[in-house]
Amino acid sequence: MAATPAPSDHSGSFDPFDAAHPHMLDACFLGPYAQNDTLLEKLVVEFLRDHVYWRRNFHPEDPLAISTTAALHPDYLAFEAKMRRELHLLSAALKKSVPFHSPRYIGHMASDLLLPGLAAQILTLPYNPNNVTEDTAPVTVELEVKVGLQLARMLGYVNDPAQPDCAFGHLTSGGTVANYQALRLALAQKAFPVALRAAGIGELDLPDDDWAAFNLHPHAATALVDRWGRWLAQAAPAERKRWQAKVAAARIEQLGLVDFFATHPELKTPKVLAPVTAHYSWSKGCKLLGLGRSQLERLPERGMRIDVDALEATLERCLRQRQPVLMAVAVLGTTEYGTVDPIDAVVDARERYAARGLGFAVHVDAAWGGYLASLLRNEDGSLRPRAEVALEFESFPTPGVHAAIAAVGRTDSVTVDPHKLGYLPYGAGAFVCRDHRATALLTEAADYVFHGEAAPDYMTRYRRLGQIIPEGSKSGAAAAAVYVTHQALPLDHAHFGLLSAQTIRAAEHFRARAQRFARENEDVVHALMPFDPDSNLVCLALNPAGNRSVPIANAFVRRLHDELRIDPRHPVQDKQFFASATTLKPEALGVEGVDRIFDALGLDPATLDDENDDKLVLLRHTLMNPYLIDHENRISYIDLYFDHLALRVRALLASAP
Ligand SMILES: *Cc1c(COP(=O)(O)O)cnc(C)c1O
Repeated sequence: MAATPAPSDHSGSFDPFDAAHPHMLDACFLGPYAQNDTLLEKLVVEFLRDHVYWRRNFHPEDPLAISTTAALHPDYLAFEAKMRRELHLLSAALKKSVPFHSPRYIGHMASDLLLPGLAAQILTLPYNPNNVTEDTAPVTVELEVKVGLQLARMLGYVNDPAQPDCAFGHLTSGGTVANYQALRLALAQKAFPVALRAAGIGELDLPDDDWAAFNLHPHAATALVDRWGRWLAQAAPAERKRWQAKVAAARIEQLGLVDFFATHPELKTPKVLAPVTAHYSWSKGCKLLGLGRSQLERLPERGMRIDVDALEATLERCLRQRQPVLMAVAVLGTTEYGTVDPIDAVVDARERYAARGLGFAVHVDAAWGGYLASLLRNEDGSLRPRAEVALEFESFPTPGVHAAIAAVGRTDSVTVDPHKLGYLPYGAGAFVCRDHRATALLTEAADYVFHGEAAPDYMTRYRRLGQIIPEGSKSGAAAAAVYVTHQALPLDHAHFGLLSAQTIRAAEHFRARAQRFARENEDVVHALMPFDPDSNLVCLALNPAGNRSVPIANAFVRRLHDELRIDPRHPVQDKQFFASATTLKPEALGVEGVDRIFDALGLDPATLDDENDDKLVLLRHTLMNPYLIDHENRISYIDLYFDHLALRVRALLASAP
C-alpha cells in the first residue's frame, strides 16, 4: 500500500450548507432542544397504555389483586413517597450526565438516540422479554435473528435463510463481547477438523495430518462441519451416538487448550494478528479464551492502517515456523482515528496463504464503522460503485475505503455496534458470521443437526439463542430497538445512509475548517490533522509555535483537553464544547508518517520520552451528531468549535508560565 498522502488543502471551496438537509431526519431524534418531545411523549404514552390493556385483557375474570383502596393505605403512601424521593434524587443527579445529544458534544462515540429505537425499547421494557430462548421471548428472539440478517445484508453476506450458506448474527452487550464470540467461533472451527481426525472417522475425506486439519481455509472447515452433520444424520442411531461421543471427547472445547495441544504436540497455540491500534478488547479476548496475551501479535501500520507488507512478512514467518494463525483482524473504523484497514488486501493475503496451507479466519472489527457500509448499499442490496457514492462528498470514499468495505462480504465474521453509529441505547453490539453452519460448533448440546430427521429451518434453529451466544439471559427490548430501527431506516444509502452521510460531510467540513484554523493561528500554534480521516473520527495535533519539545506540546494539549472534558465537579452547563483526547503511536504511523507530522508541527522526534510513553497527545473528535451543521439557522457548530478553540489556545498561551 502507498504511504498516506499529505492532507491536501480543502479549505477554499467547502461550503457545509451546500448539501441538502434530509427533512426526514428531523423526525428521527428527540433533538438538541428536545423539539420532538410531544412526538416521543405520544409514542410512550400510547404504547404504555397498549401494554396496560394487554394485561387487562389477559384473564379479566381474575379478581383485582391490588384493591382500589390500596393506594390509600399509609404504608402504600409511605413507599410511594420514598420511591419518588429516590427517583428525584436520581433524576437530579443525572443532570450531570454527558450531553451526548448536543452538537456541542464531539467527544466520545455517542450522540442522540434514534426515536424508533428509543420508543421500541421503552415499549418493550414492561414485557421484559429474555432473549436467551423463545420460551422467555417468543417475539423478540425472532427479531434478534432478523437483526442478524439485516446487518448481514448491509455487510454483503448472504442474507437469505433459504440459502445453505446464509449468514447468522446475534446481539451482544457490545463490541467487546462480539469480538470474544469471533475468537470463540474461529477457534472452534479451527480445532474441529483435528478432533474429527482424532476420532478416526474414515469416510469424511479428512485432511492428511493435524497441521493440514488445523490450518484449513475457513470455507473448507465449514464444509466439513456440514458434511459431518449429514453423515451423522444418515447413520443408525446407535452408531450416531457412538461417533458423536467420540468426536466430542476429542474437541478443544472438551479437552481445554492444555490437553488439546498436549494431544497434538506438532501444533502450536495459534496467533491472533491485529493492528497496533486495535481495540483493547482483543487483548481481553485473548486472555479470556486462555490463548494468552502473547498470542496477540500486533501488526505495524502505515498511516494508521494495517501495513500489508508487514502482514505478508508475518504470515511468511508463521508459515516458515509452522506457527498457526487463528485469525487476522482488520478494523473498519479504528476507535481512535476512524481509519479503515485494507480489508480487501487482508482477505487476498488469506486466500494466498490458505492455498499454501496456512488457513485462518478474517474478522472485521467494525464496532465503530460498520454502519458506514450503508452508504455503499443500494435498496436492492447491491453494491454502489465508488464514483456514484463519491458524488455526494468531497473525498469519501477513497478508493481504498470503497474496496475495503466492498470486501467485507469475503470475510468470515464482523463485529458491529448498534449502540455506536447505529444511534441506539447501550448495550447493543452485534456479531455476524458469514456462514451460519459454523455455529453448530458453539452449541452446548449440538443436537439439532443430529436428530436424524430433516434439520429444522433457519428460524426454528436459532430460537434457542442461549445455546450459541456467550451470554445467558439478555435483553429482548434491545433486540426490538435494533430491529424496529432497521425497519424504519433500512440499512441502505437512501435511508440509514442519509444519517451516515451527514457524519461524513461533517468530517469533511471539519477538515476544511481545521486547515483554516491552522492558517489563522499560525502565529501562536502549529495545528494539523495528522492524516486524512477515512470516516467521521478526526484528530487534531497542536504545538505552540516555537516549541520543539514533545512533552511540552503534550502538556499544552492536555490542558486544552482538560477544558473540553467532563469534570464531575462542575456543571456540564458551564462547558462550551466537549472533545476527547488520544495519543499518536509512532508505530502506527510508520517512519515517513512520523517525519512528516513532527516536521509540520515543528517538533523534534528525539524529544519523545518515556514519561509520555513515547506518544504524542492529540485532540480527538467524534462527528456523529446529526445537527453539527444546522441548516435551519445556517450555523456550523464546527465553526463555533474552532472559534472557541482559537480563543482558548491564545488564552492558555498568554497565561503560560
Ligand atoms: C468500541 C469498539 C469496540 C468495543 O465495543 P464496546 O461496545 O465498547 O464493547 C471494539 N472495537 C472497536 C473498533 C471499537 O470501536
